[in-house]
Amino acid sequence: MATHDVIVIGGGINGLVAACVLAGQKRDVIVLERRDVMGGIAATRVFHPGYSVPGLLHDTHGLRESVIEACGLWKHGLTLHPRRPFLAAEPDGHGMLVHADTSERDTEAYARFQAFLARIRGGLAALVDAPAPSLGDPLRKLVWPAFKTGRALRRLGRRDMMELLRIPSMCAADWLNDWFDDELLKAGLAQPALLGTWAGPWAAGTAANLLFDLAFAGREVLGGPAALVESLVGACRERGVTLRSGATIASLLVRENRVHGVGLGNGEELIAPAVLSCADPKHTLLDLVPIVHRPPDLVREIRNLRARGTLAKVHLALDAAPKFGDREPGSVDRIRTGTTLDDLERAFDAIKYGGWSDPPLLDINLVSLSDPGLAPRGHHVASILVHFAPANLKAGWTAPTKDALTRAVIEEFNRHAPGIADHIVAREILTPDDLAAEYALPTGHPFHGEHALDQLLSMRPTPACAQHNTPISGLYLGSAGTHPGGFSPGLPGLMAAARI
Ligand SMILES: Cc1cc2nc3c(=O)[nH]c(=O)nc-3n(C[C@H](O)[C@H](O)[C@H](O)COP(=O)(O)OP(=O)(O)OC[C@H]3O[C@@H](n4cnc5c(N)ncnc54)[C@H](O)[C@@H]3O)c2cc1C
Repeated sequence: MATHDVIVIGGGINGLVAACVLAGQKRDVIVLERRDVMGGIAATRVFHPGYSVPGLLHDTHGLRESVIEACGLWKHGLTLHPRRPFLAAEPDGHGMLVHADTSERDTEAYARFQAFLARIRGGLAALVDAPAPSLGDPLRKLVWPAFKTGRALRRLGRRDMMELLRIPSMCAADWLNDWFDDELLKAGLAQPALLGTWAGPWAAGTAANLLFDLAFAGREVLGGPAALVESLVGACRERGVTLRSGATIASLLVRENRVHGVGLGNGEELIAPAVLSCADPKHTLLDLVPIVHRPPDLVREIRNLRARGTLAKVHLALDAAPKFGDREPGSVDRIRTGTTLDDLERAFDAIKYGGWSDPPLLDINLVSLSDPGLAPRGHHVASILVHFAPANLKAGWTAPTKDALTRAVIEEFNRHAPGIADHIVAREILTPDDLAAEYALPTGHPFHGEHALDQLLSMRPTPACAQHNTPISGLYLGSAGTHPGGFSPGLPGLMAAARI
């Protein structure tokens, strides 16, 4: 039986980061990934011969310097480039471009808003880059991090500190209304607050999501999530990590409440004193831990962890670049629909009753504009996040309902870029059910658990499994479902490695 120092379950971004860091400390590490490729939901996906998307996600701008340095990614081809503007689009395709530092409307307020975000970044980083505080730790261990966070907050000055303390419990709509007049700008900015939540912009707590997205938005990875995966795979190989794809863990080996290895679907067993699961916490604790070793309280907590899938993905192969309003075709590559905060709220309303938003709320990324290799010459790929398509669709996800949602998405895209519907060569839809089946996300949730105030920091994924520990000795968690969450690729993996 093969033995290792650490077995990592799941070769998504977090699993690769954790493995790379642990191998850098001279541990013998193996990553076991059930899919045929590494990268999890960030891996390249060929959805039609000749056409691919560089991962299911759009944004890599949350990647922290600490992750890049810990994995030595500069040496492995990682290149960052400035964040691209997005078009807050009106239905006729007109709208406004919103850059990282300027916007076409509400210009002064936007500049003040960005200056505020720049000032508070350090204070927030003290909270997010540190391990989640554990109330079970001895007092002396709690005092220093609390002191550091307090000091970082004090440095902000009274006004910014009060503003920062006020934001987390607010709704994104109120927060944006405090800063801006322009409805279209507010709607465009608000979309990230909804990613992976079961909430509209008027729900308390959504401002925290938006704050994390905006405050940590740095530069983007050239080549998108797939390029990040590529550099992580290179760094893992250099440090001697064994990467094994097509290896599904069927069960953890547990004796006397201590994990000592894993059992694969083919009957093979691998031994290690530490197992780090970077698979979804629900899957890890409810499927992989043998039933006799699951404490009933833990089962209840994990079952109650909210992770309701609300996103679908549509991928379109196009034989022309879409044209938005009077802008040159191919001059914008990121487009968000929804013209008012109330449009976004109404889009959310639908899922409360088991429907999808009508019209669907879209976040379109024309990935082939920055990477022409993703489509044949002259052709394009639209990677579209469809907000508010629920896992528990009342009519069920069947071929007809999938087709109906795809048609609704194309219609909405066509409304913003007239004529694009006539240029579709191929299409694919991934509903929350498809995400669950293909990517082992039990309820199709992208962050392995909703971002909500009661599911962050020491409560992520649940109080019994915070700080990357579990009640089972030697079993650690490190996916996006753990502290600090899914908005920063690789940060949970980095912290889980530090905990081990
Ligand atoms: C549609 C979508 C859009 C997103 N958009 C963004 C975005 O714009 N920005 C952002 O920062 N984040 C985004 N996210 C979230 C982001 O993808 C995650 O934060 C991050 O990529 C998750 O990485 P991970 O390693 O934690 O998990 P995953 O990528 O889910 O990796 C887990 C891996 O574990 C493997 N696995 C599971 N069970 C087993 C088993 N039993 N045996 C072996 N292997 C197993 C899976 O196959 C998978 O490869 C998005 C997610 C989705 C789905």
